[in-house]
Amino acid sequence: MTGGSDEWWEGNAAVQVPAQVEYEKATSVEHALTLLTRYGPESRILAGGHSLIPMMKLRLAQPEMLIDINGLTELCYITLAGNQLRIGALTRHAQLLDSAVVGQYFAILHDAERVIADPIVRNWGTVGGSLCQADPSEDLSAAFAALKGTMVIQGPGGAREVAAREFHTGPYQTVVRPAEILIEVRLPIRAGGGSSYRKVARRAGDWPVGAVGAAVWLERDVVADVGIGLTALGARNFAAAEAEDYLRGRPATADNLDRAGQIAAENCRPVADQRGPADYKRHLARVLTARVLSEALSRAGG
Ligand SMILES: Cc1cc2nc3c(=O)[nH]c(=O)nc-3n(C[C@H](O)[C@H](O)[C@H](O)COP(=O)(O)OP(=O)(O)OC[C@H]3O[C@@H](n4cnc5c(N)ncnc54)[C@H](O)[C@@H]3O)c2cc1C
Repeated sequence: MTGGSDEWWEGNAAVQVPAQVEYEKATSVEHALTLLTRYGPESRILAGGHSLIPMMKLRLAQPEMLIDINGLTELCYITLAGNQLRIGALTRHAQLLDSAVVGQYFAILHDAERVIADPIVRNWGTVGGSLCQADPSEDLSAAFAALKGTMVIQGPGGAREVAAREFHTGPYQTVVRPAEILIEVRLPIRAGGGSSYRKVARRAGDWPVGAVGAAVWLERDVVADVGIGLTALGARNFAAAEAEDYLRGRPATADNLDRAGQIAAENCRPVADQRGPADYKRHLARVLTARVLSEALSRAGG
């Protein structure tokens, strides 16, 4: 108990205990989809529960049915398939951090995972849960936007693919429909690429004040392609598209990286909150963008 006295507990019970909810454990993806269809929009997938359960305790979410997918080991994998890395939706943060193949091709994901919460959250929180929660401060959303990944969503009628940058439709909203499940993230592996992620938080393990990820592909010292993802900085679709447009086709000079940082800062719309004022967040967008671009370039070419 967190309150310290029974009186406190009585007075705050409504915000500490979730409302009554039914629970069923899915035995396969098909079973989970059947349950979602049977129980309708008041049912919710339960993955790591690190976001959903606190929201239920605060009554910000009140599902009538929880469909637990934690037994679906078929959604828990990191595999190479041709020129793609495929990550199952039930892959835990800690597994992403421990994966050598992830580190080899996508250093940005190791950078991000090192600063997501703490080991307890990372051991149980999932990639799919992070993306479907769609919190504007979720680090992986910006990292996958920078990497130009693709999400695979399964519904009763089959699977469909959605670009990472079209997956989120707003704060806490995605394109996943009530009877669908996110099952996989696909990341293209391209030659000459490097990537990086940097985050500023008030304390170790805290949510970001602001964070930026970048992936850069070089051809003879010219930026052939680039992806820049912004976390908690009010960027449309978590991406700094205008800065990317500026940098693409230009030499990878320090001046150009700084200019890309300025453009990213000018085009994002951070809001003031308990983590910091908007102008400070805009400053972070500028500085961190130039910094991650520089680091991504130093890692490029492999
Ligand atoms: C103390 C704390 C600190 C944290 N700090 C950070 C941080 O610094 N950075 C960061 O990025 N995150 C942070 N997190 C969030 C963490 O990354 C969680 O893992 C994540 O928010 C949710 O993942 P989950 O698996 O627990 O999802 P759940 O809580 O189980 O689900 C979240 C939502 O997604 C839906 N959902 C889950 N999986 C699927 C699926 N496959 N298909 C469709 N819908 C699905 C659920 O129905 C629910 O609506 C923190 C969490 C805590 C508790």
